Amino acid sequence: MAKQKTIFSCQQCGHQSPKWMGKCPECQQWNTLVEELPVAASSHSRALAAPGKALKFSEITSCEEDRLRCGIGEFDRTLGGGVVPGSLILVGGDPGIGKSTLLLQAVDQLAKQGTVLYVTAEESARQVKLRGQRLGVTADKLYLLAETSLEQINARIKELKPDFLVIDSIQTIFTNSLDSAPGSVSQVRECTGQLMIQAKGDGLPTFLVGHVTKDGAIAGPRVLEHMVDTVLYFEGDPGHPYRILRAVKNRFGSTNEIGVFEGFSPADNLPSSTLSVIFGLGVLERFIFNVRANFTSASILSLRNGT
Ligand SMILES: [Zn+2]
Repeated sequence: MAKQKTIFSCQQCGHQSPKWMGKCPECQQWNTLVEELPVAASSHSRALAAPGKALKFSEITSCEEDRLRCGIGEFDRTLGGGVVPGSLILVGGDPGIGKSTLLLQAVDQLAKQGTVLYVTAEESARQVKLRGQRLGVTADKLYLLAETSLEQINARIKELKPDFLVIDSIQTIFTNSLDSAPGSVSQVRECTGQLMIQAKGDGLPTFLVGHVTKDGAIAGPRVLEHMVDTVLYFEGDPGHPYRILRAVKNRFGSTNEIGVFEGFSPADNLPSSTLSVIFGLGVLERFIFNVRANFTSASILSLRNGT
């Protein structure tokens, strides 16, 4: 039997080559090329089965008023005023910075407006439930699914018909149509592609959690950033209570917006990276007003360390 032809994909930038190389000619990184099976063309064509219809410009209604607010002011503002139906939103950040905590609080509010399916591909449903209890999550229409197979997730979506979807995280889910390991560039790209087609087709707003690597890219593939509508980064120093949610790409709003959050752990025995509660209550404004109240004059400098 003839050996199936494989390709080598760079796990950093997505560059593809027919043969292995030590250094990627595209991004100049070493040892990033991994052998993978090429994606079958049929997996893309079947998803495009329902063709769209050309609309007159004047017939298209503005989606501005259709935004769904989750009620966390800082989060809604960073999104550009709320969640746009059918949008694909990537929430990136270092592992343990509080992405899941932030999203769990947001979907708690969104679940008051519709059904939410929260796919937890890293933690068990019980772990998420425990965190939710600490946060005071009470939503009745919030469903948790501990699953890593995209095919299984899609089957549950068809049953449940949720109004919002969360995938936590995109690096841990996989599709059976590819042999490569979860987290590899081809798996992340294929899973994101399928979720995007679903989000657009069904008008299902989808949040993807993505871990950031040491050099600051959403783990491995930067290709992911080009595929989604909105890219938010959740950042902060684990030793300090403040977190910043920053929009680096937004098809539905400005990228000049940030949301400032304050997190604290009520139990002293928890490590500082374990955020228990994150509030988005205009922390920045409160901070500035406190300064004004105590001093006759003040200069405010926003400073961020970096290289
Ligand atoms: Zn590369």
